[in-house]
Amino acid sequence: MNSLRQTVLIVDDIVANLEVLAEVLGDDFEVLVATNGNDALKIAEEQSPDLVLLDIMMPDLDGYETCIRLKENRHTRQIPVIFVTALDREVDEARGLEVGAIDYITKPFSPPIVKARVKNHLELKHQRDILENLAFIDGLTGISNRRQFDRRIEEEWRRASRNGELLSLILIDIDFFKKYNDHYGHLAGDDCLKQVAETLASSLKRPGDAVARYGGEEFACILPQTDAEGVNKLAETLRQAVANLRIPHAASTVTDHVTLSLGVATCSPTPATSPESLVTAADKMLYMAKEEGRNRAVGYRP
Ligand code: GH3
Ligand code: MG
Ligand code: MG
Repeated sequence: MNSLRQTVLIVDDIVANLEVLAEVLGDDFEVLVATNGNDALKIAEEQSPDLVLLDIMMPDLDGYETCIRLKENRHTRQIPVIFVTALDREVDEARGLEVGAIDYITKPFSPPIVKARVKNHLELKHQRDILENLAFIDGLTGISNRRQFDRRIEEEWRRASRNGELLSLILIDIDFFKKYNDHYGHLAGDDCLKQVAETLASSLKRPGDAVARYGGEEFACILPQTDAEGVNKLAETLRQAVANLRIPHAASTVTDHVTLSLGVATCSPTPATSPESLVTAADKMLYMAKEEGRNRAVGYRP
């Protein structure tokens, strides 16, 4: 399984209860603790634990309400919640499951059974994380796919408009790729796509930068907090990095190796506008790059 230990957040207003559970789980999992609902919400959002063990009877925010709020927040809604509580009536348990808990354990509990249930739910969570990641990865190249690009650019758009920052985009298209496939075969074409993807990914240096396979032989880079000058330089770096691979392309009329055309755009996002305007602008620049002879990066020129 994964080398990193999974994390369990234990929430109980009575410290002795926290200690018992931490003792039961501490050998196998990372344990975080909170003594009230509000702290639990904060820790869950900041640390993304893999599971929450939640007491119900707590002052201020009780466990039900805490669970409801965890499930309302898109950053925490996917974290499974197990109630661990002295409330042992059928209606209490039914309510717990109704507000979104995956399991319900009554006190006094049996430590081995709690441990076994936690283990089972964490295994399911781990499987779900793998599937979720797969849904956003391109199968051929291993970089983000179009679905992830769409999610990511929306996110970056909102962040940039909130913080008044710039956002830049590069759309990238391999030159004469149909001819490449026709000349070298589809398998060689696939291999070329992998090499290009890897080179683009390793050329991006900032942690916020993102590259995705946008379409068949098209890629896109999202560059937060990057101005026109910076993104134009980066586009030229990407063009050179792929040209330097010197992947033979005898059917290209530009050069004898595989080259890219790149369209570059920068903007200041606002809540009233959408990322499509940025994509459209970069796409126009990409069209210009093709028109002007390919193997080049073209940015907006006022
Ligand atoms: P241009 O320089 O104008 O971009 O010409 P082009 O031939 O690259 O563009 P076009 O859009 O006509 O052709 C794109 C080609 O990319 C067609 C398709 O066979 C190929 N392609 C798309 N996806 C894949 C893939 O997953 N694997 C392989 N091997 N080829 C792909
Ligand atoms: Mg294309
Ligand atoms: Mg092309």
